[in-house]
Amino acid sequence: MPASPLIIVGGGQSGLAAAHAAAQRGVRPLILDAAEGPGGSWPHYYDSLTLFSPARFSALPGRALPGAPDRYPHRDEVVDYLRAYAAGLDADIRYRRRVRCVTAGSAGFAVATSTGERFTGTALVAATGGFSRPHRPEIPGLDAFTGTVLHTADYRAPEPFAGQRIVVVGGGNSGVQIAAELAGVARVTLATRTPVAWQNPRILGRDVHWWFVRTGLDAAPLRRLWQKGPTLVNDRGRYRAAFASGNPDRRGMFTRLEGEKVQWADGGVERVDTVILATGYRPALDYLEDTGALDPNRAPLHRGGVSTTVPGLGYVGLEFQRGFASATLRGVGRDARYVLRRLGVRG
Ligand code: FAD
Repeated sequence: MPASPLIIVGGGQSGLAAAHAAAQRGVRPLILDAAEGPGGSWPHYYDSLTLFSPARFSALPGRALPGAPDRYPHRDEVVDYLRAYAAGLDADIRYRRRVRCVTAGSAGFAVATSTGERFTGTALVAATGGFSRPHRPEIPGLDAFTGTVLHTADYRAPEPFAGQRIVVVGGGNSGVQIAAELAGVARVTLATRTPVAWQNPRILGRDVHWWFVRTGLDAAPLRRLWQKGPTLVNDRGRYRAAFASGNPDRRGMFTRLEGEKVQWADGGVERVDTVILATGYRPALDYLEDTGALDPNRAPLHRGGVSTTVPGLGYVGLEFQRGFASATLRGVGRDARYVLRRLGVRG
């Protein structure tokens, strides 16, 4: 097979946005994805998940999400949308191809997959998200905890936890939503280092994402500001009301786990059945290890999504890659266009 002008690793929303940007530059890319089919990681997110942004601010370039633009779509609608989006692209998409290893040379990239195939490309975009690398923070006693520990990546629905005492760790959108949902069947505490930073999704009658886009607040120069600030949790009142009811409640982060117990900062000790880590994800880029693209923590060395150490290599979908919206449905299109232009991809 001749070298492709562009190989995209990962066929979720970030990979599809990169493929759309490639098509606009006259290039038909090759997409290699480990999954069985389209949708990226969306089919694996928890069952009750609805988007934090309305449909009109949750679309990839060139195709609107169907239905009323101001509603907050359900997870399954995003899966259907990404399926239709992939079908409408002019791209060679190959599923069930996990990229194991990439090597970089003067002629471009050689890519080895789990199927034993080898593909070559002039440029390469890594768009593999972080779902396969859930972040487990260092918590004293976590490894020896005798209860159940799981990451939100493994959480689907509340029923299996009925009657339990549960601590959810992490004050972002997932932690808050899962804690509130579990409180319907269990007694739940959300443990966070700082109070939850609530965000009203409507300001002066407009969705907050309208303001982000209109004011340019999520644009590149403010990246560091967003990165340092707390994660904003969207709430139309439902979650604040749930916490006001006392179940779930919120407490400062516990100091350690011991056996089956949690030790709280005020010295109190309590038996807990399950600890759920709502502590986010890290970029899953191990396949780039041999290229020199990663730092010792396996994080990509890049500026705005363009590798600073490997010519021809770019990224789409990294958190805060260029701004606040970089790792979201509405943000990946803008970043993809920028990265492909900077890589010089053209037909
Ligand atoms: P993924 O969806 O993870 O797709 C990566 C793809 O790469 C997968 O198909 C995978 O099979 C493939 N892959 C991985 N490794 C390899 C490999 N080695 N070789 C080949 N293929 C590989 N964003 C919003 O805009 N609105 C929201 O409301 C929203 N809610 C979210 C809720 C949760 C719980 C989470 C976790 C995220 C949410 N996001 C939201 C953020 C973001 O939009 C999603 O995480 C989205 O799935 C990221 O898309 P992606 O394409 O970058 O990565």
